[in-house]
Amino acid sequence: MSMLSVVLPSYNEEAMIKRTAKVMASVLEREWIEYELVFVDDGSSDSTWEEIRHAARDNAKVHGVHFSRNFGKESAIFAGLASAKGDCVAVMDCDLQHPPQTVVEMYRLWEQGYEVIEGVKRSRGDESLFHRMSAITFYRWMSMAAKMDMTHASDFKLLDRKVVDVLLAMPEKNAFFRALSGWVGFRTISVEFDVQEREAGVSKWTTRSLIRYGVSNIAGFTSLPLHLILWIGGFALLAAFILGLQTIVRYCMGKAVEGFTTVILLILLMGSLIMISLGVIGYYIARIYEEVKGRPRYIISATI
Ligand code: UDP
Ligand code: MG
Repeated sequence: MSMLSVVLPSYNEEAMIKRTAKVMASVLEREWIEYELVFVDDGSSDSTWEEIRHAARDNAKVHGVHFSRNFGKESAIFAGLASAKGDCVAVMDCDLQHPPQTVVEMYRLWEQGYEVIEGVKRSRGDESLFHRMSAITFYRWMSMAAKMDMTHASDFKLLDRKVVDVLLAMPEKNAFFRALSGWVGFRTISVEFDVQEREAGVSKWTTRSLIRYGVSNIAGFTSLPLHLILWIGGFALLAAFILGLQTIVRYCMGKAVEGFTTVILLILLMGSLIMISLGVIGYYIARIYEEVKGRPRYIISATI
């Protein structure tokens, strides 16, 4: 009989572990699905790890991986994929915002031969207006830059063993799981779900961490910003040519004393453009440096 592994990244989720383990176990048992639950404690500072150990004691199908510090959700997902033993692996949030019933639906599709089953948000649930707007903007840019539709993407997915092995074999340290599962291809289908209310605990995202996440993932999936610099440079050159011609003509006509404001403005504008371009290039170099160092994606300090 085939087994389903469910990977649940958890960071400071002490209030949710027990409940999630119970709900998932009862849903999957009711459907006669052979399963294991892999909780990945992403270096929580509360009693999440104790809760996972308790859950593992109560149910032998619960496993836990404990990070030495907080490495972020992406790393937690990959650690979960690496320790999952199932023939297919589902990834879901451990705050029950991803409905357990949808996992069953995904599993049935997997049984029909699909290899990547993507959870697609039908509605975004309860969020602040700012959060919603920035998420929408980010995904629009991301979709444009990476040339795939990401507007409703989520980390809620079920992957076949084959796909998991392909993902694990990628040497990339700074991977963007959400987009990568689309990038690898395979027989894909999507399932719509409604984002549920968070039952306990708080969202781990701050505006700052979201911006960092967004920039990092755009850079991870496309070099479009680098091409943009080239384009801006091209336009600047064109403008320089026209303005230069005009300046020479005016000089020859003996009217070149005026226009100091223009000079100041031009120096400021070009200076900023150059700095920004250097910054963008620097960002990519920093990422190359990160990858070249080859540090591990995460460090595991305990398992159960
Ligand atoms: N998470 C994690 N590491 C982090 C931040 C979050 O493993 O550094 C987990 C968190 O425990 C949850 C999931 O990622 O299971 C989604 O996080 P959250 O619910 O805070 O995000 P939101 O649902 O608000 O987008
Ligand atoms: Mg959540």
